[in-house]
Amino acid sequence: MIHHGNPVSKGIAAGPVFLYQPFAAAVSEALLEESAVSEALNKYENARKNAESELKAIRARLETSDPEKAKIFSAHIDILFDEAMDCDIRELIECDRYSPDRAIDEVFEKYARILGKSPDPLIKERASDIRDVKTRLIRVWNGVAEKNLSSLPAPAVIVVHDLLPSDTATLDRKNVLAIVTEIGGSTSHSAIIARSYGIPAILGVENATTHFAQGETVIADALTGQVISNPTQEQLADCDERRSRFLAQQAQINSYMEKEAVTPDGVRVDIELNLASVSKQSLEGAKCTDGVGLFRTEFLYMGRDTLPTEEEQFEIYREVLTKFGDRPVTLRTLDIGGDKKLDCLNLPHEENPFLGNRALRLCFERPDIFRTQLRAAYRASVYGNLWIMFPMVASMDDIRRAKQVAAEVKTELTKEGIAFSPDVKLGIMIEIPSIALLADFAAKEVDFASIGTNDLCQYTMAVDRLNPAVSEYYQSYNPALFRLIHIAAKSFIDNGKPVCVCGELGGDRLGAAVLMGLGVRKLSMSISSVAQTRKLVNELEMKKAVEIAAKVLDLSTAQEVEKYLNEALKDILL
Ligand code: PEP
Ligand code: MG
Repeated sequence: MIHHGNPVSKGIAAGPVFLYQPFAAAVSEALLEESAVSEALNKYENARKNAESELKAIRARLETSDPEKAKIFSAHIDILFDEAMDCDIRELIECDRYSPDRAIDEVFEKYARILGKSPDPLIKERASDIRDVKTRLIRVWNGVAEKNLSSLPAPAVIVVHDLLPSDTATLDRKNVLAIVTEIGGSTSHSAIIARSYGIPAILGVENATTHFAQGETVIADALTGQVISNPTQEQLADCDERRSRFLAQQAQINSYMEKEAVTPDGVRVDIELNLASVSKQSLEGAKCTDGVGLFRTEFLYMGRDTLPTEEEQFEIYREVLTKFGDRPVTLRTLDIGGDKKLDCLNLPHEENPFLGNRALRLCFERPDIFRTQLRAAYRASVYGNLWIMFPMVASMDDIRRAKQVAAEVKTELTKEGIAFSPDVKLGIMIEIPSIALLADFAAKEVDFASIGTNDLCQYTMAVDRLNPAVSEYYQSYNPALFRLIHIAAKSFIDNGKPVCVCGELGGDRLGAAVLMGLGVRKLSMSISSVAQTRKLVNELEMKKAVEIAAKVLDLSTAQEVEKYLNEALKDILL
């Protein structure tokens, strides 16, 4: 029998099923007697202490083997003692007589839902962390012992409803052949971890935990998205063969990781990194990229009650700039607001957050935040090659206003006798159609542009990039998007100014081929796309890319574009 799901981390494996049923938090609906309230509060406090002991024990175990993962558990301890949530929970117990498990469930869910709506994968991920801590706390409150995936008896295919961050952080990697879950999309925590570990994963297999029996053999085919139960000998042999072929292909792609990206007819394309943290692991990307094309600075502001100081920011910017030496580091100023909430900023609810007071608009409203970030960035500029860019630019007024603030910050630093590099470049993100159409004017007033195709697609197609109900209308290959990119890129190229693409399309092979043909010579992407893009550039003649781009501009639907690109690039995509 074949079950279907969404293959989010490529690969294929066969092996016995390990059905993993973590604690399911059922909560009691009954209200407390008034006399039981104070005991309930004590019990809640004890549960927090016991949960903290568990978290500290896991953290201590990981501190030597994997310090990066250990940090997840420090973050979980912070969530456990989050004052706002604690206050809400106590209020529900004291005033509404909720039993502690129900109060925990309600409050943690409320916060997780808010974060889960964020378009920023990093903030979204925090929703899973909140749910993870919630489950732990309710389990401890129920006096149930801990269960996790840290030591599997033998190699197995994990089948689970969904993986929690703490499951993945402690995962027994050498024994996990593949992961199959019932829920989760390609940006979910399970998907991100599976990809970073190179474990095949198929998510969204409906009722997987009831379809498969403990120990039964399955083929988890994350090349096609199929999970085959009770496979025949023939199917198993086929799986072996495809696995060997896949691994050989992967090795071939990975051999391009550090190879210069030059087309066979001699055109160089810079492959840059999208950075969203400064962990040791993310900075490893410095080894194989030509710079940072997008430094998302939002992480500095997340998960804290106060805004980051100039000094804190300076230290982090300095670290990244130093790491990349004379290669460009493109720092994007704060892109928050609307639906991306921060604990340290009390932002009002908006009916249309994507069209609301976000990013640069919010920075104009809060010059204290904007100036602090710019001061820190300029101060750090003496340590490397800093490029600063502004997100969500819609008009020439936005550009002039942002440049004015930057000029004022420089004057201020000069007056204070603080050094900064005179060579810092100022640029804009092109992610709103209006500025794409005015790019000829913009190119005269800024040093560079970076096209944010994720938002440009959202605003061009008028489709919420987060809403699964309309995902079919979010068409990254729609020719309208390529036409806008063409207009914007051409304006910058004609003015002799660099233009990069830092949205997902830049690291997508079909998209990258068109972008090259449109004259883009800088592509910025997550580390997982670097090797395959370097391979593409090395194998695609620029002459052919130009032909491909011209054809795409002449097609009328996203389906036609995708079909044409797959055909035109079929020898390269192997
Ligand atoms: C984009 O919009 O394409 C982009 C790179 O920015 P973000 O995904 O952070 O909105
Ligand atoms: Mg954007």
